Amino acid sequence: MVSDRWPNLPDMTAEPVTTQQPEPSPEVPAELPATVRASLSPSRAADFKTCPLLYRFRSIDRLPERPTVEQARGTLVHAVLERLFDLPATGRTPDAAGDLVSPQWDRLVTEQPELSGLFADGDEQATAAFLRSAAGLLEGYFTVEDPRRLEPAERESLISAVVDGELLIRGYLDRLDVAPDGALRVVDYKTGGAPREAFEARALFQLKFYALVLWRTRGVVPRVLRLLYLKDAEVCDYAPDAEELVRFERTVVALWRAIEAATAAQDFRPRPSRLCDWCSHQALCPSYGGTPPPFPVRVATPDPLRDARTTPVPPGADE
Ligand code: SF4
Repeated sequence: MVSDRWPNLPDMTAEPVTTQQPEPSPEVPAELPATVRASLSPSRAADFKTCPLLYRFRSIDRLPERPTVEQARGTLVHAVLERLFDLPATGRTPDAAGDLVSPQWDRLVTEQPELSGLFADGDEQATAAFLRSAAGLLEGYFTVEDPRRLEPAERESLISAVVDGELLIRGYLDRLDVAPDGALRVVDYKTGGAPREAFEARALFQLKFYALVLWRTRGVVPRVLRLLYLKDAEVCDYAPDAEELVRFERTVVALWRAIEAATAAQDFRPRPSRLCDWCSHQALCPSYGGTPPPFPVRVATPDPLRDARTTPVPPGADE
């Protein structure tokens, strides 16, 4: 169902959209402009907004986080949905999606061996239950969209833009649809089992981030930012406008300046919230009686563009 807490918008799934195969992404500059001196992904920006200390743990200390079953399920479902659109339109059925689950899991485990540690060796029952739960989320997907009537323009595309002359913002889109009239719809799949109210502001922040990149690189404000909550089989649409994106751009730049100031002062404070329940670093957090590790020395001579040279959080892995 379409949430009534969001503006009613034309359902772009009602009509097939144009087929556009991904091109070598024009948004990823082959060479960064000389003025660019930092980069920011929506996930890391949202981390700082949520809790500066969480940003520090993830982006500066780079503390490892063991993947959770929920994150692995999100990565798997995103992978299946991406591959589903490789099939001819008529073949994009629930059964076909179900058939992709196990091979995609095998592929992910091969590429990310740490995922194999989620289940005890030989615990086939747990693995089978996990795969069934992913298939259940895919069933939720089919209740809100008919992929036989869609031809996404792009899937899992890395897009980027320079804002304020100095900051490269970039991230992965789950999906971009382009209507025959050129209207853009940004689609983000949400697979988390946590109460979505806890994450909705973060999800919308990420979508606006993508909208800003698309606007800055293509000159078009996306008509629709769509969140597909697969567990709840619910669609939330949001229509941004240019003025809002101008304000949002200022917010992103201000956030980046705040990150720079916090880094210079080595001062990242905890900001406890409901999201702490999903934080991997409570044991090191003063709000939970912990002590953060010493501030990394390497930050004294930072490589501010290091994030521009690494891969942002892939789709589905940050839910
Ligand atoms: S436990 Fe909460 S306050 Fe502490 S670092 Fe994590 S998100 Fe921030």
